[in-house]
Amino acid sequence: MQACQLQEQGDLDVIQVREAEVPTPGKGQVLIKTEYAGVNFIDTYQRGGIYKLPMPWTLGNECAGEVVALGEGVDPTSVGFNVGDKVAAYTAGGSFAQYTLATTKQTIKLPSGVSTKDAATLILQGLTALTFVREAHEVKKGQWILVQAAAGGLGRLLCQLCSHIGAKVIGTTSTEEKAQLAKEAGAEHVILYGEGRDVVGEVYKLTGGEGIERGVHAVFDGVGKDTFDMDFDLLRRKGTLVTLGNASGPVPPFAPLKLGPKNLKVCRPVLNQYVYTAEEFHSYATELFEIVKQGHLKLAVHGEYPLTTEGIKQSQIDITGRKTSGKLLIKVA
Ligand code: NDP
Repeated sequence: MQACQLQEQGDLDVIQVREAEVPTPGKGQVLIKTEYAGVNFIDTYQRGGIYKLPMPWTLGNECAGEVVALGEGVDPTSVGFNVGDKVAAYTAGGSFAQYTLATTKQTIKLPSGVSTKDAATLILQGLTALTFVREAHEVKKGQWILVQAAAGGLGRLLCQLCSHIGAKVIGTTSTEEKAQLAKEAGAEHVILYGEGRDVVGEVYKLTGGEGIERGVHAVFDGVGKDTFDMDFDLLRRKGTLVTLGNASGPVPPFAPLKLGPKNLKVCRPVLNQYVYTAEEFHSYATELFEIVKQGHLKLAVHGEYPLTTEGIKQSQIDITGRKTSGKLLIKVA
């Protein structure tokens, strides 16, 4: 099969789509003929080396396609799918390939009416958004929530879910064009950030309040290094900072004493630990598909890229180049 298998971490040139062995599913595993794989910012960390990985490593952390084989002992009745079914999977690597190996506990049969393209658009970022607004900070009706990079793939889903819950959403982004997209996704207010912009002042005007009562109840921040310090000012007393990514670089170490003046909480969640068991994955994924079916979550695809060396490289150039909004997909079959 063709697969985007890295031999080493490094700059874009380590990306090579090459001939590779079709993997064999073992205990607790399923082999999927990949139709679409989702592109995520994490692919760039895994390629570049922010996250250290054993080599060789096949890129790609989610896919949707058709089940072609089940591992030894996998009971179709208990896992809920069989050979021939269309499924979506959240994987630890391996999905930028014609065949993807996934664990049965993080694979789900697609409900009727959900295409493999929709499922690949949704599964990783959708589960991230849903689990984070429940478990990293439980978003409640009436709360002020700030989403950094609100026009991005995850950002747009977070805005939609928070606004569906009834929170008052403030988004930040870099351009007017992206601001419009964040508004369409449910951000009531969008503030442009960057050099010379007073994001904190604008947020205080919106939320009102005095002293440490000014600001938002929670910040969801995938930008990382560039916005981390600002997040502490954006939050009101007892607020929660959910630092969830490194788009501008990893957040540097900080002193816990920094939390004291407003009794803030900081958490740094990773999706996998919220959908770790089959029960967690299936219950969140089922709810996610239902939310989409009810029309509360609209999917936006920025573009499709082929499973070629150039295609994968281009997807990483685009996502790191801040040119995208919405989801990037690798069209495999
Ligand atoms: P996005 O589509 O949101 O792309 C990243 C966006 O970040 C850019 O479009 C850009 O938006 C903004 N950005 C700000 N500064 C920079 C910079 N210096 N370089 C590049 N981009 C910058 O990507 P994703 O939706 O895939 O991911 C968003 C974040 O969520 C990432 O940090 C990712 O790692 C994280 N994530 C974390 C998960 C977890 O389990 N913890 C799971 C999934 C995603 P703008 O132009 O508006 O500034």
